[in-house]
Amino acid sequence: MINRTLAQADPQMAEILGAELNRQQETLMLIPSENYASRAVMAAAGSVFTNKYAEGYPGNRYYNGCKFYDQMEQLCIDRAKKLFGADHANVQLHTGSQANMAAYHALIKPGDRILAMSVAQGGHLTHGAPVNFSGQMYQPHFYSVSRENGWLDYDEIAQIAREVKPRLIVAGASAYPRIIDFERFRAIADEVGAYVVSDIAHIAGLVAAKCHPDPIPFSDVVTTTTHKTLRGPRGALILCKSEYASAIDRAVFPGVQAGPLMHIIAAKAVALHEAEQVGFHEYQHQIISNAQALAQSLLEEGFDLITGGTDNHLMLVDLRNKNISGHEAADLCEQANMVVNFNLIPYDPRPPRETSGIRPGTPGITTRGMKEAEAALIGKLLARVINDAPTNPAVLDEVRAQVLELCHSFPIYADLEI
Ligand code: PLP
Repeated sequence: MINRTLAQADPQMAEILGAELNRQQETLMLIPSENYASRAVMAAAGSVFTNKYAEGYPGNRYYNGCKFYDQMEQLCIDRAKKLFGADHANVQLHTGSQANMAAYHALIKPGDRILAMSVAQGGHLTHGAPVNFSGQMYQPHFYSVSRENGWLDYDEIAQIAREVKPRLIVAGASAYPRIIDFERFRAIADEVGAYVVSDIAHIAGLVAAKCHPDPIPFSDVVTTTTHKTLRGPRGALILCKSEYASAIDRAVFPGVQAGPLMHIIAAKAVALHEAEQVGFHEYQHQIISNAQALAQSLLEEGFDLITGGTDNHLMLVDLRNKNISGHEAADLCEQANMVVNFNLIPYDPRPPRETSGIRPGTPGITTRGMKEAEAALIGKLLARVINDAPTNPAVLDEVRAQVLELCHSFPIYADLEI
């Protein structure tokens, strides 16, 4: 049993997996928080490193037999520190949400005030949403983007910080298409005596490749996922200054997690190694160029974009002039093999299950090797679906055929076996 392939051992599961592989090959992944991990990353994630408990940290475990786990985790830590230029790294976080939980746990006490961007404005659930631990354990206060132009207004954030006097400010977002000024967040936090936690879950790859200003010098703690622009396995890590190293490590284990996912740590190490290679900067740079080409193409097709464009890997399309909800638009796009996610726009008149926006992003298509010309074409295909398919469903077949042609010209996981 132990040596059989998945297809031999569990044909039912192999069939579902095969169908998903085919879906990934034949659709355009336009969700900015997703990417295609490399074969090497997936090999590490699917390795015998899955078999071991390794509670604790390298050289100080609560389980025997961890010699190679110590070597492997230390390699991952060293690579994370080097890539981001951080004093300390904790690579055990299962998810970005747990990274934020551990960061707050290390720095502040339950009941303390935090200041962050609300989900409705582009922040993440873990930035104080009432339905999330962060809004229930801490006292959340929020900053917004400007109602006029969709940009962060740092003077207003400073004003709110003076009024609220938070213990901790979160700098970072899930749906903000512009550069985040971490230096300005530091200055605001210093004025009111708050910690800065920079959540770079979305932009970590851009930051690592120096295509986005660096949060490390201006943050007490930086949290990130590893599977978005960074293109690693599903997981997260925390970077911090030396003075917070032991508080962070204790907050992660035993604070919010026990046994780390060692196979995923191995896969993170591989992804961090890939991020040191020559092509990585070019890849991240291309993600941004592609996003800008896609944004320009959508503007030419009469779409409104929040802030009018993008500096990073995503854009927020405001569909209010199109008489269609974000959810309806995303469902139509999926029928044409383009997967985008529906997303609230700032001050959205529609509820979160409907939304007035979609949030296309380019990490996935860039991994497939697409460039500006393909990104611009995808803008036209999205426009064709959203503008015409509601009244003329035949458009979906026509666009799907074009999408399939693109997918076949830019294949992914071409000879992957199950
Ligand atoms: N922080 C931000 C800004 C995010 O966008 C996300 C995920 O989308 C997270 C944290 C949480 O990551 P996870 O889904 O791994 O818990």
